[in-house]
Amino acid sequence: MAYKLAGVLMLIAIGYWHVPGEQDGLFHPRSFVSKGWLAHERDAVCKYLASGERCTEYLGYSACRFSCGITDDLMGNADLTDGVWVWPEGLSHYVSRHNVMLPEEFILHMRKCSYTVAPEARHASNDQQDFAFWVEWCRLNRKQSILSRFFLKFSDIGRRG
Ligand SMILES: [Zn+2]
Repeated sequence: MAYKLAGVLMLIAIGYWHVPGEQDGLFHPRSFVSKGWLAHERDAVCKYLASGERCTEYLGYSACRFSCGITDDLMGNADLTDGVWVWPEGLSHYVSRHNVMLPEEFILHMRKCSYTVAPEARHASNDQQDFAFWVEWCRLNRKQSILSRFFLKFSDIGRRG
């Protein structure tokens, strides 16, 4: 699924969350919580996520969006990559502790690699991130709160009437 755009390797960004006040098209991870999701291979997935190559480091640590009490240094300050996908260092925490789902395409990629990050990931640079896939996946897969579903139904009824 890795591809090049004008000769530049594009890494597919995944696992980034909405920053309050920004028009980023992203959401809070609570929109993707699914208890029991991928329970049988969750450990392998989290190990994969934790073993990506550090490709970009930031000055500050990330903080868990669920404010669960994990210290920020454990959430990390880097982006990790496998040479195809790129994700924030703290993503494994969201999957293991908060039951946050990830796209099937990413899981299939891990399975194909036997949950081992390819050695060539070391040469990937994080200069080019493509958010289009993630933004679209989030839009299609987010769970809406009961209240917002109610308002959607309500506006449907209004339109039909
Ligand atoms: Zn947490």
